[in-house]
Amino acid sequence: MKDIEKSIQILREKISKAAAKSGRTEKDVLLIGVTKKVDLDRIKIAYGLGIKDFGENYVQEAKKKIESFEKKATWHMIGHIQTNKIKYLPRLFDYIHSVDRWEVVEILNKFEKKMKVLFEINIAQEKTKQGAGPDDIRKILEKIGTLKNIEPVGLMTMAPYVENPQEVRWVFGRLRELRDELNREFGLNMKELSMGMSNDFEVAIEEGATMVRIGTAIFGERI
Ligand SMILES: *Cc1c(COP(=O)(O)O)cnc(C)c1O
Repeated sequence: MKDIEKSIQILREKISKAAAKSGRTEKDVLLIGVTKKVDLDRIKIAYGLGIKDFGENYVQEAKKKIESFEKKATWHMIGHIQTNKIKYLPRLFDYIHSVDRWEVVEILNKFEKKMKVLFEINIAQEKTKQGAGPDDIRKILEKIGTLKNIEPVGLMTMAPYVENPQEVRWVFGRLRELRDELNREFGLNMKELSMGMSNDFEVAIEEGATMVRIGTAIFGERI
């Protein structure tokens, strides 16, 4: 309990400082607690300490936790989306951060729930990471207006892991520019930039992140 409390306190101070550097406040940056491999008891502790948004990577694991979580939280799907699992997403999640192909939004649209989606872009073009290229997302945005249950709210990226996060500052800056370009091209008003994890969230916030996805810095190393 003390560990999580202390971690969240330190995290909030860092978020606040980084937000100030981009002329914003802590309130402008949503802290999403990433809870893959984190048990329900520890999620409840974080909830009690003010974290109301949680990110999960795997549908099976998320389903168990979300269905037995009695309190009102907002759940974010941040992991790679397998085609055969898309049908489970609307009932479990409020936001889908990892949309990387048309098929995902096309199937999500068939359910009655209005879904907020972000497009995952592989800015650094790492072979080991998921995510689409900017032109793949343009092709989706051209016809997104035909899907009435899909609300495009932003972009998401994962930067390459590096010791010194300054080296990936350009990745975050590029995602921000791309969001602005796509908004102009398609007449959209996407506000969200889901970028920044435990090792690089401060730089991401300085570059305009509106959502940071933090696991290790809250809950400790995953084993
Ligand atoms: C695991 C994960 C995170 C959190 O990573 P930490 O380094 O533990 O903060 C964030 N985003 C995605 C997509 C993840 O898979």
